[in-house]
Amino acid sequence: MTLQTNWNLTKYFFTGLNDPKLLSNIDSILPLADAFSKKYQGIIKTFSTPEQILEYYADYEKMSHEMGTGGTYLSYLQSLDTQNNAVIKKLGELECIFVEASSKLLFISQEWKELGYDKIMAFADNPLLQDYKNALVSSAANLKYILSEREEFVLNEKSRALGVVEWLREELANSYEFQIELDGEKKTMTEEEIRSLRTSPNRETRRKSYESLRQMYNTKQAQITLGNIYAGIVKDWTSDVKLRGYQTIMEPRNTSEELENEVVDMLMQEVQTAYPLFARFIEAKRKLMKLDEFHIYDVSAPLGQIEKEFSFEDGTRLHLETMKDFDQEFYDYSIDMLESSRIDAFPKYGKRSGAFASYGPGEPSFVLLNHTGKLRDVSTLSHELGHATHGHLSQGQKPAVYSSPLSLAETASIFSEMLLSEKIRKELTTEEYKEFLNEKLSDTFATIFRQIQYIAFEKRVHEAIFTGEELTYHDFNRMWREEQIRMTGESVTYDVTAENESSWSMIPHIFASPFYCYAYAFGNILVFALYNRYQKEGRSFVENYKDILRSGGSKRPKDLLSEHGFDITSPKFYRDAIEEVEKMVVEFEGLVEGK
Ligand SMILES: [Zn+2]
Repeated sequence: MTLQTNWNLTKYFFTGLNDPKLLSNIDSILPLADAFSKKYQGIIKTFSTPEQILEYYADYEKMSHEMGTGGTYLSYLQSLDTQNNAVIKKLGELECIFVEASSKLLFISQEWKELGYDKIMAFADNPLLQDYKNALVSSAANLKYILSEREEFVLNEKSRALGVVEWLREELANSYEFQIELDGEKKTMTEEEIRSLRTSPNRETRRKSYESLRQMYNTKQAQITLGNIYAGIVKDWTSDVKLRGYQTIMEPRNTSEELENEVVDMLMQEVQTAYPLFARFIEAKRKLMKLDEFHIYDVSAPLGQIEKEFSFEDGTRLHLETMKDFDQEFYDYSIDMLESSRIDAFPKYGKRSGAFASYGPGEPSFVLLNHTGKLRDVSTLSHELGHATHGHLSQGQKPAVYSSPLSLAETASIFSEMLLSEKIRKELTTEEYKEFLNEKLSDTFATIFRQIQYIAFEKRVHEAIFTGEELTYHDFNRMWREEQIRMTGESVTYDVTAENESSWSMIPHIFASPFYCYAYAFGNILVFALYNRYQKEGRSFVENYKDILRSGGSKRPKDLLSEHGFDITSPKFYRDAIEEVEKMVVEFEGLVEGK
């Protein structure tokens, strides 16, 4: 096998910014929208046969696909070089075109509404339309929240003002510069740089990184500004809940995530019941680090200084061996990704940081990495190739139901990481394995437990404001600390008082997408539950697992999972998952005694 470590975008898209094909692709967007509205305006509301619906979806999917190619290409170019002004400019132009196109297509949701719930649901049951069932059911379910055309128009116009409030937060946060003194030298850093110091092996560096964040976010000016922005955003959300007639404060999010209100409540309740596991992890970690008092800045700390290096070749070998043992199709697609120039592996000047996988209906998957030889980079490789393979396996679905909701979207990625860790542990010394387990547990608590803690905070704030209470940053600080303590108990020492607890103001998600974070928790819980089953059933489970991935977004999570024996409305589902977390905690506690 010849490893290709750079994307070849020319092979899959266009030859460059001036490729006439790219330009004509962009020029075709508005005419495509015009042609679509010419054909369907006034027609959707009169749909009466399944053949009409099939033709509509085929046209819609074709239009979306053609409209999207140029944008996908440009966003890939931008990821490879975020400083490229010509690309940024082109993307800006494209965005304007898309806004215009989407206003040309506003009639679609109104006409579906006019067609009405009963007719749409009858279509959803029609045998000819089974490929589109979930798309039809979802649009029927959303109808009751759509207001009249005039009202929607007014809300849409007014929503621009809220956009300004969100930009204000983003621009303000991006303008912050963080001061820190390291090795006697004063430095100015960005928020991302400061945050990365929280995993430093040097305790004083970690402490200073927290202190530096607080110095910025605890100023009276930041607190007043961010407190008012947050209250404003919550007021907007809660007024939407009232105007559109949602039953609960979280229902708008639950609707878009295709999860029932009861399921989300149960997720929160079961994770909160398991909160004491976190304190057990921290207590074991305190002993392993030989600390008297465990501070908030020790939570993400490594245990020691060990850092085994893994070259990209080592990483791919470990990943491929893992997949070979697991399933041929997973193995084959990974090979295809690696050989066909769809993985961009190494850091480059101007390249986007972090990692992602990108895929869409009818398009091959692409993966971007920044491999620096750390153990974590190998997990990231498996994570992103898991996403990529999920994208590949869902290709059997129609574009309208291709993408899974976020609650299912992290399935293959985290599952692949789990498989890999079984393989990796055999290659690690005892000391290296301790570090590995520590990192894995830190991640698990961050992606499940802490997300639920955020949601519990948001829920309290939203419910209070919904019932007419006025809250300020003083209240947010206090409520945040109360939710922190619920999870950590006495295991962690906080270095600031509850009155000065500004951490909520550093979480972009609670401003930009209220209640979004529970989807991460649900996704991780689901993978632990799947893994628990895989451990019990072995090989025979693999086809079940792949069927779940092949389904893409064609079924509601509840129905899809219940077909495969997972009842997400039962506490047992969550408890099986948490059992896997507990196993890791027990193993970690065992390391203390092993000393
Ligand atoms: Zn992911």
